Amino acid sequence: MYSLEDIRKEFPILGKEVHGKPLIYLDNAATTQKPLCVVEAINQAYYSANANVHRGVHYLSQLATEHHEEARRRVARFIGAPSPEGLIFTRGTTEAINLVAYSAGEAFFLSEGDEILISTMEHHSNIVPWQLLAARRGAKLKVIPLTPDGQLDMSAYRSLLSPRTRLVSVAHVSNVLGTVNPVEEVTHLAHEVGALVLIDGAQAVAHTRVNVEEIGADFYAFSAHKIYGPVGIGALWGRPEVLKQMPPYMGGGEMIEKVSFEKTTYNVLPFKFEAGTPDYVGSTAFSAALDFVERLGIEAIAHHEEELLAYATERLLSEFPESYILGTAPHKGGILSFGIGKIHPFDLGTLLDHMGVAIRTGHHCAEPLLHSYGYEAVARASFGLYNTREEVDYFFEALHRVVPMLL
Ligand code: PLP
Repeated sequence: MYSLEDIRKEFPILGKEVHGKPLIYLDNAATTQKPLCVVEAINQAYYSANANVHRGVHYLSQLATEHHEEARRRVARFIGAPSPEGLIFTRGTTEAINLVAYSAGEAFFLSEGDEILISTMEHHSNIVPWQLLAARRGAKLKVIPLTPDGQLDMSAYRSLLSPRTRLVSVAHVSNVLGTVNPVEEVTHLAHEVGALVLIDGAQAVAHTRVNVEEIGADFYAFSAHKIYGPVGIGALWGRPEVLKQMPPYMGGGEMIEKVSFEKTTYNVLPFKFEAGTPDYVGSTAFSAALDFVERLGIEAIAHHEEELLAYATERLLSEFPESYILGTAPHKGGILSFGIGKIHPFDLGTLLDHMGVAIRTGHHCAEPLLHSYGYEAVARASFGLYNTREEVDYFFEALHRVVPMLL
């Protein structure tokens, strides 16, 4: 296990005071804080390697291109992709899913009534792009229900799959329930009926080792900012043989081979899906974040967060008898979504903030999921690699102060 004291020094923001109290940052599922090496990678890119990539013959452009393409190889390696050919930089998970919904929709949704399967626990960014596709192509959106503890109902899933299923898209880890889904099995079953599979890895990459080859899915989407990297960049990995059959998502520079007014031909993968100047600064910072995470070890990080989660869960249930938890699956990422009696989560979040504790409240971009449990909003504490047991203790001290004011 790494030294928390040393690691926390890498995150200057964690030393900040909020409303005169030390910051306790428990909103890591929304975004993670950035270590010095990531901020420094951004600075270095602008200080010493800034030029537009891919089309310059001059030194600086070639240097920036080398860094950008090295970052692509780094990201591909991190998720166990066999080559960087299928690694497309996007603005994040949302753009990655929209890319697939549009381009795979064009390529593979051929007749009215073709089906898309998602689950009740999806983030809005894994719902709305499919609704748009369904409206465009006359496809049908079907939803896999959950078991009461917040796992995919696999027998319902099996019965929803059919030869009409073109695509299945589910979260690897739920951003509300924390459930880690059996993505290998989801993929295997979908492939048996000839459907493609997209896994939304936004909440998974920072907490579990991801290997796209082992999962077997056709697409895997994630965001750098949820794994200690910069905002504004993420990745879509796609199986090259599938991506090759899909038309481009956006048109512009970079994604073309030749352009004439009569006919335009497209670049090879992955550039065919990267129109315009890419975020070559973000990519090098993304790569620095992955190096940082690898240095600590994803298993050590996961183990640490699981301990914090177990400790916080146990304290919540034993010290607040009127509390409830959304998502009680045996295998969870470091996410604790909860409520206490009739207290509105917004009030809880606001008072906790006054004590320096940052949690998230609301529907967490998963309205259908919350509604399925009969809630409009819940509170969510989510843990990152730098959180400490003492911070959890302070969180509970704060809860004991604010809950009596609100009950
Ligand atoms: N999917 C899940 C499960 C998420 O938790 C999030 C962000 O919270 C997203 C998708 C969207 O990620 P982004 O906003 O970085 O595109």
